Amino acid sequence: MAYLNERVSYLKGMTDGLNMDNTTPESKLIKAMLDVMQEMADEIEVMTGAFDDIAEDLADLMDYCYNEDFEYDDCIEVECDSCGETVEITDEMIDENGKVSCPNCGKPINIENLCDFDYDDYDDEE
Ligand SMILES: [Zn+2]
Repeated sequence: MAYLNERVSYLKGMTDGLNMDNTTPESKLIKAMLDVMQEMADEIEVMTGAFDDIAEDLADLMDYCYNEDFEYDDCIEVECDSCGETVEITDEMIDENGKVSCPNCGKPINIENLCDFDYDDYDDEE
């Protein structure tokens, strides 16, 4: 997006070449418009940078959630839908169908939505 700034600078250069003396209403208007355009270009550059950062974080997050190589940590704590008990799930407890039975009540536990990891533990690689 740096090109927006370059184009505004180019336009400013053009007005300098016109030797506008800043006394006519038109030259005042043009200079004021260019100042606004400069501010917009700066603003857009900042927002684009922020957007890129967010897109990068989102990509990391998607990797984390959907990566097939992703393995659950040694254990995760899940609240059983059936008995309400908070139980620890380990890799070994997940069967070939990706299902887990509650160690407390034996009912199946839905582990499909176990993507809600703690954001505070999410390391920002910067
Ligand atoms: Zn249970």
